[in-house]
Amino acid sequence: MPWLPLTAAIFALLWGSLWGSFLNVVVYRVPAGLSVVRPRSRCGSCGTPIAAWHNIPVVSWLWLRGRCASCKAAISPRYPVVEATVAVLSLALAMPWLPLLLDPAALLDPAGLPWRPALALAGEQAVVFTWLAIALIDADTFLSPDVLSLPLPLVAIALAAVTGDLRGVDLRMAVLGAVVAGLGLWLLMWLYARMTGREGLGLGDVKLLASIGALLGLAAVPVVLLAAALQGLAFALLYALLSRGKATEERGLTSLRQLAIPFGPFLVLGAVEWLLLHRLGAGLMAAQGLWLPS
Ligand SMILES: [Zn+2]
Repeated sequence: MPWLPLTAAIFALLWGSLWGSFLNVVVYRVPAGLSVVRPRSRCGSCGTPIAAWHNIPVVSWLWLRGRCASCKAAISPRYPVVEATVAVLSLALAMPWLPLLLDPAALLDPAGLPWRPALALAGEQAVVFTWLAIALIDADTFLSPDVLSLPLPLVAIALAAVTGDLRGVDLRMAVLGAVVAGLGLWLLMWLYARMTGREGLGLGDVKLLASIGALLGLAAVPVVLLAAALQGLAFALLYALLSRGKATEERGLTSLRQLAIPFGPFLVLGAVEWLLLHRLGAGLMAAQGLWLPS
């Protein structure tokens, strides 16, 4: 059945693009304290409700050439970019699970429905998509809403309890990951504030890293933290270089220090990189018979 993996891949892309569309609503409305369900989306300029056929992820934005159908006001390209990113991420997260989910023997036997792999995939996607929403809100507002970041470590620990053996992160590693990551970053934050008198990181970052430790396990925490710090630093340097022309008199360290950059988006970037690369590495090693996933 060669059409089955293709159908599943297309479904994963569509599924992700719908979640991306919903994330755009969450990122816009949650910091403003608005309901994410009602009312339906409206044009930010003229207030006209957006018709369903103008609300198709990515396609509608391209079709309308990035403009509102009523008032022709420009619509930010960020919306289709988020939708496309979540679609690709949805497929990337689904890939390692497809062989288990599409196992013909399991599909033919109703009692053997692969509900645990399905739950593992759905849980991973739910946590990763929520990370994305937190990263975007952090980038916009420097805040991390508790309604998103507080339940995440618990969701990830519950996921480890039910599907830990499939995902390679058992309950112990998930709990240790959450506690060590959360406490560790909190301690770092406290020390930094004591030594410099300034707040470098926020409690939002602590909750976010705790959920990263809970989903990816203890071993991933130092790697993700290092990857996030290096990429954040690279971004800050690049930003300082590119904006040097219009920046103030201060240069180098002084201006870099004054440059406030949210850490959350880089934590999420590092976590997603670890998740995808780790799976890819495990897949390659398994393919060569070097390592068998537990
Ligand atoms: Zn409009």
